[in-house]
Amino acid sequence: MVAINQLHVFQFDYVLFATLSLLALAVISYWLRNTARGNRTVVIAWGWLPLLLLGGYFLVDAAGRHEKRRLQKRIEGLAPTYAEELRSMGHAQITPATAPDDPLYLAMIEKQIRWLQINRAVADIYTFRKSPEGNQLVVDSETDYNRDGRYSGDRERRTVIGEVWTEKDDAISKAYSGTASFDDEIFSDRWGDWVSAYAPIRNLDGSLDAVLGVDFAAEDWVAAIARARRFAIGFLAVIVTIGLASTSIISILHASLFERQKAADELLIAKNLAEAATTSKSEFLANMSHEIRTPMNGIIGMTDLLVGTNLDNQQREYLRIVKQSATSLLGLLNDILDFSKIEAGKLELESIRFGIRDCVEKTIQTLTFRASEKQLEICCRIDPNLPDTLIGDPSRLCQVLINLAGNAIKFTEHGEILINVQQDSRTGDSLRLRCEVRDSGIGIAPDKLDSIFAAFSQEDTSTTRRFGGTGLGLAICAQLVKLMGGEIWADSQKGVGTTFYFTTCFKISPTKLRSLPEIEALAGLPVLVVDDNQTNRVILDEILKGWRMKPVVVDGGPAGLAAMRSASAAGAPFPLALLDCMMPEMDGFEFARIVRSDPDLQACQLLMISSAAGQDDHAKCREVGIARYMTKPVIQSQLAEAILDVIVDSDTEPDAVDQTDSRSHLSHSEASVDTGGSADDAQSVEDGPAMKILLVEDGIVNQKVALAMLRKLPHHVVIAEDGQEAVAAFQQESFDLVLMDVQMPVMDGLEATAAIRRIEQSPARVPIIAMTASAMKGDRERCLAAGMDDYLSKPIEAQLLYEVIAKFAPANAADSATKKQ
Ligand code: ADP
Repeated sequence: MVAINQLHVFQFDYVLFATLSLLALAVISYWLRNTARGNRTVVIAWGWLPLLLLGGYFLVDAAGRHEKRRLQKRIEGLAPTYAEELRSMGHAQITPATAPDDPLYLAMIEKQIRWLQINRAVADIYTFRKSPEGNQLVVDSETDYNRDGRYSGDRERRTVIGEVWTEKDDAISKAYSGTASFDDEIFSDRWGDWVSAYAPIRNLDGSLDAVLGVDFAAEDWVAAIARARRFAIGFLAVIVTIGLASTSIISILHASLFERQKAADELLIAKNLAEAATTSKSEFLANMSHEIRTPMNGIIGMTDLLVGTNLDNQQREYLRIVKQSATSLLGLLNDILDFSKIEAGKLELESIRFGIRDCVEKTIQTLTFRASEKQLEICCRIDPNLPDTLIGDPSRLCQVLINLAGNAIKFTEHGEILINVQQDSRTGDSLRLRCEVRDSGIGIAPDKLDSIFAAFSQEDTSTTRRFGGTGLGLAICAQLVKLMGGEIWADSQKGVGTTFYFTTCFKISPTKLRSLPEIEALAGLPVLVVDDNQTNRVILDEILKGWRMKPVVVDGGPAGLAAMRSASAAGAPFPLALLDCMMPEMDGFEFARIVRSDPDLQACQLLMISSAAGQDDHAKCREVGIARYMTKPVIQSQLAEAILDVIVDSDTEPDAVDQTDSRSHLSHSEASVDTGGSADDAQSVEDGPAMKILLVEDGIVNQKVALAMLRKLPHHVVIAEDGQEAVAAFQQESFDLVLMDVQMPVMDGLEATAAIRRIEQSPARVPIIAMTASAMKGDRERCLAAGMDDYLSKPIEAQLLYEVIAKFAPANAADSATKKQ
């Protein structure tokens, strides 16, 4: 029999497990190195896994040993029990001479077979005694080794009593010396591999009779121990798997967090860069705009002045084209500047109180000239129920209106353009305004209706050739409307016309900007409206009824005369008639002439509302006795004032013909695009007192332009080339007004203003008007904050300049300037 140390058999399972674990870690590390670069978790895993495997070795070994001890105890426990029972049955009486069919011997064989049947783990039970030849077997039951229920074949044969068996073993020697023992080394014989327990069988006197052996199949023994080890390895594998899995997960999470952090850092850097780029872009634009505006001022101003000199027709025509080109270039510049500002998120809306009627009507009026050039009727209807004073950004609202109405004029050849402003919805003090600009022009194809709101898009490129334009206007409108919390959209039919709609949000001002208390005086006053245009009739009717007047509306001169005559015959003649200028059949002048020559009708005051001022309209009005002349679309506040003037003060001389100009409220961009102003408008302030004006301007061209404009007035102008000179001049002399350029060398306009304000002691402070080519938001505020009183943006328009001078003229001059209104 060969003894095998079963411990060696068991090492392999663990070595395999440890190798696989380390291999798995190697693979995971490799994979993580590619996905989660430079990760400390993997390094940690390389530390803990070998430690775990080392500890695991002892755990698994202990599990195997524990199982072995358990089995050993079981077998060890059985051997003395069996030995004691065989002793009590009389084992000592069995000798090698006992016959094979001895009843006692058979009983013992029978007993052993039963034990084997009960204890399936035990393979064999036998007794033996020591003899000089070796171990002499005494009782050795036949055994059903293959457990098929039969005792068959050589192997399962009963051993003859006294058969010699030469096994020598420490455990056997121990049993011979009287101690039960167990041999955990596996031994093999021709029947198989075994582990055995031995127990002494004693005689009654205590001497040794024989030794009992219990064989246990080594196969089962090894399997049980291997199972116990495998169980421990399984447990360890779960821990290793969890460890490796968490290592991977932590590494990946760590890596993704790291990546995210890195991406966030990069994003922040990119954002800062982008912001810096945007800032420098808008600064660049502001500078560019300033640089371009300055020479534009020279071109437009000088052209204006040149027109006023002695020229032949061809020169005049050339100049007209120069002026037109310069003006449209300036418009383009403003568009691009606006668009970039909006794109860069730099455009901030103002929040100021403004009168919606004045704002819309004055805006539309700036387009009257362009519309009348194409013989288009431009009408403006404002819902009488709309609150008058709103809070928001009027100049941006005007900008959108100007753009849409300007397009309407551009793309329309016949018919009329209607601007309709009404309330869309109202919650508390918030009002959503809905504006509509309708034309009867060329229309837009349905598939282009959405794309026209994108930057640089035009319905088809041929429009550029025919109508000019950049395709920026509607994009700016869309952005502005969005900024004002509204939407813009359009309806159109090719060849029929287009309607643009937009909504914007405003707050309703709790206080009115301005009220006309005398308007109450008009209540109940009959008024005749003579206009061939249906839309205008409806609008005027609505306005007049809003003032509780009693309008009678007719569509032409003959009908108007008939109405006047019948009213006069009924003893209630019309005290007032509003006349359109151009009408078929009989125009407004003709109508007035007839009225003035008819003694029954003469007393009626006449007010003309014309689409555009003709060359000699004012003179004609004076001639035929028309009290006031206004341009369409009427500005309600001005119409009210005009009516009050002619009715309340019926003695008004007919030659006090009013010429309204509505551009002063507009920001530079709109005003300069649609400029129609000329230096000739200056006569209105000529009668003011001579003022002493300090003109602070570093540019020679700009100096000349301003001087030439001022020369039309009786004022005395002193020039300072920069801020320092201005302060010096101010210290020596006193001035009635200062016109101050802002960007100048040596000392800029803001500093100079601050210095002047410091020098001034008397409470009467000299008005300082900024003149600047900067057009960025906040410039106006900066100027005012520096102590200036008003702001003109370059290119300076003569009319605006005169108005500002009149506004700040000393008290006696101011009177005459206001009276003129
Ligand atoms: P621009 O007029 O400078 O080309 P806009 O952005 O103002 O740029 O308009 C874009 C295009 O939309 C125009 O070129 C024109 O094709 C179309 N469009 C705008 N308004 C009208 C309109 N009232 N009638 C017909 N087409 C219009």
